[in-house]
Amino acid sequence: MKKIFIYTLIVFFILVILSFKLINNNSNNKLSTFVNTYKKINYFKKSNIDRYINYKKIYPDLNDEDIVTRVNLNLDYPFYENTKVSKDLNKKYILVNKYIYLPADYIPDNLENISGKYSDGNKLLVVDARIAFEELASAALKENLHIRAISAYRSYDYQKELYDKYASIDGVKIADTYSARAGFSEHQTGLVVDLDNIVLRYEQFESTDEFEWMNKNSYKYGFILRYPDGKSNITGYDYEAWHYRYVGKKIAKYIHDNDITFDEYYIRFIDNKKQDK
Ligand SMILES: [Zn+2]
Repeated sequence: MKKIFIYTLIVFFILVILSFKLINNNSNNKLSTFVNTYKKINYFKKSNIDRYINYKKIYPDLNDEDIVTRVNLNLDYPFYENTKVSKDLNKKYILVNKYIYLPADYIPDNLENISGKYSDGNKLLVVDARIAFEELASAALKENLHIRAISAYRSYDYQKELYDKYASIDGVKIADTYSARAGFSEHQTGLVVDLDNIVLRYEQFESTDEFEWMNKNSYKYGFILRYPDGKSNITGYDYEAWHYRYVGKKIAKYIHDNDITFDEYYIRFIDNKKQDK
């Protein structure tokens, strides 16, 4: 009787060990399935495999493309950690966000004043963006809509003044949701305009006919809404209906048609061309 009991016990343990092995194998298979599909994505980076797997565990509902895109953007790190300096200075496809910054002494080439017809005459943009913006504002004006640039290029020092003022009033945590730290502001690229319609303040731009016109037409002139509603987990900023970025017509059209952020576009189509796999 005793012997039978011992045999049963042994068989039971063997079964337990076998089933553990099976479970283990299954999860390993699952992991290698993820990695195999990631590898097919052409902006996949070998060095990020562990981070992709960890990110998938945290966000199981995201598809593979989003996992790879977001990890490549460094979104698995807190904002302003693991930052690096931009290598795309003076390029219209430059990405500046909470992980990629501009040197303190960087001033873009070819800054020019926006016409006083569409600004106070004292706002600078890089020449291509300046020309495109004036074309855009003039097309809107033909429909009796007034698009005015109230802020454009900002120097590192000016951005520092702005951010420090906001942070002293609201604290760093809140200031970070709406203002960029010096060096991390897209305004320093000279490719950005903040808009109003002359009548209402820029914070109310979303409620204007000019905003609606921009929604339909800005991409035709190479401008995109840079911080869209509902995308702050990717862009790092609250929705800003007034902040437009010049990226050129081709990129603007793709972003408009596919409803993605510029951060995502940059990883999928620009960053991957520079990296070795
Ligand atoms: Zn802005």
